[in-house]
Amino acid sequence: MVGCLPKDPSDKRKERDMEFHTGDQPEEGRYRCKNCGYIVRITSDTEKLPACPNCGHHEFEKLEDED
Ligand SMILES: [Zn+2]
Repeated sequence: MVGCLPKDPSDKRKERDMEFHTGDQPEEGRYRCKNCGYIVRITSDTEKLPACPNCGHHEFEKLEDED
């Protein structure tokens, strides 16, 4: 699965492991908008993070407490 990822300019400054952006294709799980707290659920590992449906922000953090 590794090798054909799109170029990510934020890759060189890895300040946080848990940060994701619009257009990223993370694993399944819940991602919380860092601006408004809206939670986006990703249900497939081919699904891409959208812009926040609530506020249009592009930064998310992953929630680990998945039930
Ligand atoms: Zn938001």
